[in-house]
Amino acid sequence: MSAQVIIIGRPNVGKSTLFNRLVGKKLALVDDQGGVTRDRRMGDAFLAGMPFTVIDTAGWEDDDPETLPGRMRKQTEVSVEGADAALFVIDSRAGITPLDEEIARWLRQQDVPVVMVANKAEGKAGDGGIMDAFALGFGDPVPLSAEHGEGVADLFDALWPII
Ligand code: GDP
Ligand code: MG
Repeated sequence: MSAQVIIIGRPNVGKSTLFNRLVGKKLALVDDQGGVTRDRRMGDAFLAGMPFTVIDTAGWEDDDPETLPGRMRKQTEVSVEGADAALFVIDSRAGITPLDEEIARWLRQQDVPVVMVANKAEGKAGDGGIMDAFALGFGDPVPLSAEHGEGVADLFDALWPII
């Protein structure tokens, strides 16, 4: 069985865009409103020829009136238990929010290696957010633009020693 890599982060940071980038298909829903990923999505990904399974989550997306945030979070917890690595995604343009800090606290209690991903880092607008992401305590953030496909090689470098 290939390694499982779970994508975690607050709404709208670009988790589903990263999932689509890694899987190479439009399997996950991407939406400007956030909160459109109703449940986990799994797909087969390749990075530099290394196969792994990637899981898109929506555990912290509580703006959907039809889903119970608690139940969604529980599902993320279950997914993390089976994962070999977690990609913790933040929006480097928006910087770190209280919800990012809450997720960081939660992730520290999980038994999974974490790769910090500073998404939306194309151009210079994300430079401050990349510095802030380092302060969350998961090591050097990988600057990435899921939308433009920049930084994917660096993500591979961070991931391959773990999985
Ligand atoms: P999710 O809620 O975390 O799954 O986020 P989505 O993947 O649905 O993306 C939320 C918004 O961020 C969408 O408007 C995306 O087009 C945008 N987005 C995703 N990745 C990037 C990126 O690398 N750069 C920029 N500028 N926008 C991005
Ligand atoms: Mg999503």
